[in-house]
Amino acid sequence: MPLPKKPEVVIIGRPNVGKSTLFNRLVGKKLALVDDQPGVTRDRRMGDAEIAGLKFTIVDTAGWEDEDAHTLPGRMRIQTEASLEGADAAVFVVDARAGLTPLDEEIARYLREQEVPVVVVANKAEGKGGEAGAMEAYALGLGEPLAMSAEHGEGIADLFGGLWPIIGAASEEWEEFNDITRAEIAAMDEEDRPTGPLKLAIVGRPNAGKSTLINRLLGEDRLLTGPEAGITRDSIAIDWDWTDPKTGETREIRLIDTAGMRKKKNVTEKLEKLSVADARRAVDFAEVVVLLLDATQGLEHQDLKIASHVLEEGRALMIAINKWDVAEDASKLFNGIRAALDDGLAQVRGLPLFAVSAKTGKGLDQMLGGAFELRDAWSKRVSTAALNRWFDDALEANPPPAPGGKRIKLRYITQAGTRPPRFVIFGSRLDLLPTSYERYLVNGIRAKLGFDAVPVRVTLKTNK
Ligand code: GDP
Ligand code: GDP
Repeated sequence: MPLPKKPEVVIIGRPNVGKSTLFNRLVGKKLALVDDQPGVTRDRRMGDAEIAGLKFTIVDTAGWEDEDAHTLPGRMRIQTEASLEGADAAVFVVDARAGLTPLDEEIARYLREQEVPVVVVANKAEGKGGEAGAMEAYALGLGEPLAMSAEHGEGIADLFGGLWPIIGAASEEWEEFNDITRAEIAAMDEEDRPTGPLKLAIVGRPNAGKSTLINRLLGEDRLLTGPEAGITRDSIAIDWDWTDPKTGETREIRLIDTAGMRKKKNVTEKLEKLSVADARRAVDFAEVVVLLLDATQGLEHQDLKIASHVLEEGRALMIAINKWDVAEDASKLFNGIRAALDDGLAQVRGLPLFAVSAKTGKGLDQMLGGAFELRDAWSKRVSTAALNRWFDDALEANPPPAPGGKRIKLRYITQAGTRPPRFVIFGSRLDLLPTSYERYLVNGIRAKLGFDAVPVRVTLKTNK
């Protein structure tokens, strides 16, 4: 399915009828060359035209040198053909004062054979007799001629009326698409490159080993920077530099440490409740959230609740099974947790899963390396072209259903944002699209476009 394209309108006509004048009028700038001499050599020009909010690309054909010829001159014909290719409408300009010429008729004959819709403009129709001269152009057999004066700006509203039924819908569709694309580009600078410290939070049930893990990670290098705006008073942000042993690269990490994680023994609140409150606070702050499990306890309902919350908030989630040093039947445990996660969390598949020990330090570097990778995926932007190549394939492999014999149309997809990745799919009759089909697309985005394990948002948007 092609991406929305700005409609293209090509101006056609023999020399000296006022094509360039009309072109200039529509683009509002002196772009094309205007000359009294017939057949002044011009290049094919394109400009952004707008009439009363109807936006399109306007193309001025040129190089119609051989005015005296009574048949469509070869070069002119080639250029006309070339400019009609990809055009959504043609504006055929004749001169209302001069009357029809054999060349006008020749062009009309040619245009009648083409598929592109034609609007006939009888130009130079200002003043007395203009209208009458314009009527003559009925004889071209291309519909009602619009009397205009490109030079005086008369009849532009009629031209709008003539073009709107042909390109109005396409123009609107393009604009809607373009707005989103523009927003994408504007957002790109801010969001796209994950630079700056990795904002990491560690959540989990009481006794999973969060405090031990944080102390282990920071060692002696701890640097307290908090309290920070947006973080509750009793939460602190801790910055430290982590050196990736795999690459030797040093990277910044900012860890949120909520007071509740440490002071749990002093509070009267029920521990269960507290860990969820901690998770919420940490999730607000973090890019990547590590859910810490206790290898001696396995995965419990409470863990899935925390995990769901993290994903609902659109954060990148990973799982670390702590106390691996005392884990029994390690591989069975690991596989069991993997299966339980896939079952229990419908939003994602294949969450990154690490076996660690806060006590011995085992697996912690792998976990942090994984956190950076996850942030990259979570921040990633796929080009609209690549996205739609995948989309076309996905629709072809498994076309959307046709309730009541009428197929649901899915037109195109665009990535509207990152962190988490957000996509918008445009089409019609989308209210009838089954959830199973939506899931098929979401799974495809994850598996085929490299968004495994990150929460992906997809919105359906109806357009005509
Ligand atoms: P093109 O060869 O078809 O591109 O024609 P141009 O735009 O170069 O115009 C040819 C001549 O017609 C110029 O002298 C223009 O000023 C004149 N012209 C263009 N539009 C009008 C119009 O609406 N009324 C009158 N009277 N002259 C016009
Ligand atoms: P928190 O409530 O999540 O902050 O958990 P703590 O860090 O207070 O740890 C709870 C208990 O688990 C403590 O007795 C820790 O010593 C112990 N613990 C933490 N990490 C590990 C580990 O990797 N291996 C073992 N064997 N024990 C651990």
